[in-house]
Amino acid sequence: MRLARFDGGRLGVVVGEDIADITGLVGGDPQQWPDMTMVRLIRDFDHVRGDIEGALAGLPRKPLAQVRLETPVPWPNKIIAYPVNYHAHGREMQAQYRATNQGFFLKPNSALSGPADPIMLPAVPGREVHHESELAIIIGKECRGVAREDWQDVVFGYACLLDMVVRGREERVFRKAYDTFCPVGPWITTADEVTDPAALDMKLWVNGDLRQSANTRDLVLDIPGMVATASAVMTLYPGDIIATGTPEGVGPVVDGDRIRIVIDQVGEMAVDVVQGNQGMTEVFAQPYVPPIVKQS
Ligand code: MN
Repeated sequence: MRLARFDGGRLGVVVGEDIADITGLVGGDPQQWPDMTMVRLIRDFDHVRGDIEGALAGLPRKPLAQVRLETPVPWPNKIIAYPVNYHAHGREMQAQYRATNQGFFLKPNSALSGPADPIMLPAVPGREVHHESELAIIIGKECRGVAREDWQDVVFGYACLLDMVVRGREERVFRKAYDTFCPVGPWITTADEVTDPAALDMKLWVNGDLRQSANTRDLVLDIPGMVATASAVMTLYPGDIIATGTPEGVGPVVDGDRIRIVIDQVGEMAVDVVQGNQGMTEVFAQPYVPPIVKQS
């Protein structure tokens, strides 16, 4: 099932080129703040899935093209992100470490945006803002200390994610925390619809130019390992998002660009890039150009 948020916090199931509105069916309240309806739906999904499937044919529908899709989980408990989790990306960044010996970092929930929201570039002269194409894992169960072999029990689904970053040597979280630096979408594809998340092609284009092309089989720390590592440290909650790391081919984006990400069986979205006028800080006073080593 493909679960989306749209038109001001409504919940929907994507069926072909349409979206069926399940807001009333699942007791969603688009006016509620903070908007936890998707988190609750994920928590309760095993119980309500049958009701949704039974009612689907009779629910009001709109063409997808006529709705505004929004980030699927706007208030997760946390966004976990694994750095340098593809060897070729490690080589292009000349990083000596990998996710397997480095662990994870967190991105702020306020960085989340949706498939219809532009990425707002901060006004940081002398710096590059890079795209990172990533598969997102959406956690389905409250859990702690999940063994590798039990990873499927707690994974709810998958989505496309862009981990945007100001390149530099400063604190990683600081450089990855700007508003709109974590587009997620276009919806959550539930895990049962993905044959093997460790064999998914993922591609990213900027203005039609293919920049990143990889397969999740090349993840250094695999999905069972990411779930085990994160849950060894923290309790995971329904709706938590794991950014699984980017492959090689990262690079700068500028005002007017359009980033398109496609992940097999999961979805695709295209996001505009707009130069904003906020966000300069003394931390970025020194110019920096990353020495990316092109991978063939
Ligand atoms: Mn990343």
